[in-house]
Amino acid sequence: IVIRSLLKKRLVPLQAGRMCYSSVPTTKLFIDGKFVDSKTSQWLDVHNPATNEVIARVPKATQEEMLAAVDSCSRSYHSWSETSILTRQQIFLRYQQIIKANIKELARSITVEQGKTLADAEGDVFRGLQVVEHTCSITSLMLGETLPSITTDMDIYTYRLPIGVCAGIAPFNFPAMIPLWMFPMAMVCGNTYLMKPSERVPACTMLLAKMLQDAGVPDGTLNIIHGQHHAVNFICDHPAIKAISFVGSNQAGEYIYERASKYGKRVQSNMGAKNHGVVMPDANKENTLNQLVGAAFGAAGQRCMALSTAILVGEARSWLPELVERAKALRVNAGDQAGADLGPLISPQAKERVNRLIQSGVDEGAKLLLDGRNLKVPGYEKGNFVGPTIISNVKPQMKCYTEEIFGPVLIVLEADSLDDAISLVNSNPFGNGTAIFTTNGATARKYTHEVDVGQVGVNVPIPVPLPMFSFTGSQASFRGDTNFYGKQGIQFYTQIKTVISQWKAEDATVKTPAVSMPTMG
Ligand code: NAD
Repeated sequence: IVIRSLLKKRLVPLQAGRMCYSSVPTTKLFIDGKFVDSKTSQWLDVHNPATNEVIARVPKATQEEMLAAVDSCSRSYHSWSETSILTRQQIFLRYQQIIKANIKELARSITVEQGKTLADAEGDVFRGLQVVEHTCSITSLMLGETLPSITTDMDIYTYRLPIGVCAGIAPFNFPAMIPLWMFPMAMVCGNTYLMKPSERVPACTMLLAKMLQDAGVPDGTLNIIHGQHHAVNFICDHPAIKAISFVGSNQAGEYIYERASKYGKRVQSNMGAKNHGVVMPDANKENTLNQLVGAAFGAAGQRCMALSTAILVGEARSWLPELVERAKALRVNAGDQAGADLGPLISPQAKERVNRLIQSGVDEGAKLLLDGRNLKVPGYEKGNFVGPTIISNVKPQMKCYTEEIFGPVLIVLEADSLDDAISLVNSNPFGNGTAIFTTNGATARKYTHEVDVGQVGVNVPIPVPLPMFSFTGSQASFRGDTNFYGKQGIQFYTQIKTVISQWKAEDATVKTPAVSMPTMG
């Protein structure tokens, strides 16, 4: 019901620029506390990936609309940043309750636009909800520091303060979790926020905005614009925006990092990945094979922490046939169908790209052990489905290894020893996530210490940190110096003011000017 209230059937221009009556609902902008229709002439189609039907149209916001959104953020900043921290905390306490009560509705909106299964979509919301829950500890998270009596009658202390208008640019693959990494953290610190969701999955962010409004956030503290490159450039360039959080591909992330940094903005940019799962021969076989298959093919491989590359060490090579059997048993279907293990890819272009990368592996001499291309899902023949695919005998120079596939494809390399596996992982430019499967503590310790990757799992296939920690992707998977959420997220969204004060008794008044550099000694 809420989705329908945020989308409205109306007259929209087709992409060719012609006006046409359409029954397809359009997504609104959220400006100054109101869900408003865009006046743009440029619209993008949003598809259901299981059917490729157009289910909504999303506007490319006009320059005027984007300016209105930033102005609204700027106008509300003064009062919001001065609002007591206890009031902000209360709003986010209500917000987490509202999200919790509406997980299923949020999940449905994700499945219809993004394609993932309903259970996986609930996980998407839940991981974002955990960040919102963490924001409710803001009264501790924003504490400054004090050091009394640094010299006679003199104390030093710091305040942690918001920085102004912040902005977020989100990808398609986690329509709830990633926006929830962004605006709640920033806003609870006293910043106002301009959000640009992925143009491919806007509905969930709109629902989250409505819920934040229902939680009592003042008008103008959160604004939402839609669009693609033009909206992104606008965010990078507008002088009122002080910090940008980006999650998405390397192509966009590196561009945004450079363009926005040039204007002195803070930027945190989480990007692509190639995550290796190292399988030692002493690992618990049952556990490892199930975890590998779940982490490679869950969400159709469209997770930045998907375990897309297995390195089988020594005797673990012989486990390949069983790996294939388990992958074969997964059920591919529309995400809202009971029993579906994985849904479709986001678009026909994504499917075509994944199929091309599979073929490139074959052409370069790898072995296709399980081929998910040409899969037909009865009743969903037009969907972007690719079934679980396993390619073995992969070598590091092959294209299917050097590129992020972002589909349900597990590529398999082999190594003779742990050292060889570590050196393979460390030669890869990405550093998002990795996992080792072993029953030997010393092996696990050596791996966690020597591997140059930001997030490491030991018998944990998808080691996404909880929000009291931070998401610590590294190397080519990250640009910036403070990560998303946790203590680093608070650091990103705040600045420090240091105060040194001296209160002397009257008889200790300074009698002569001190012209040398004060040493405070
Ligand atoms: P994407 O880069 O195509 O889109 C992300 C955002 O950037 C969107 O809002 C889009 O409008 C905008 N954008 C796209 N191309 C742009 C360009 N050339 N210039 C300026 N803006 C542009 O990413 P996606 O396909 O939506 O998401 C998938 C990617 O995101 C994968 O590479 C995945 O690994 C990565 N990802 C990383 C993390 C992480 O935390 N490291 C998490 C999720 C996804």
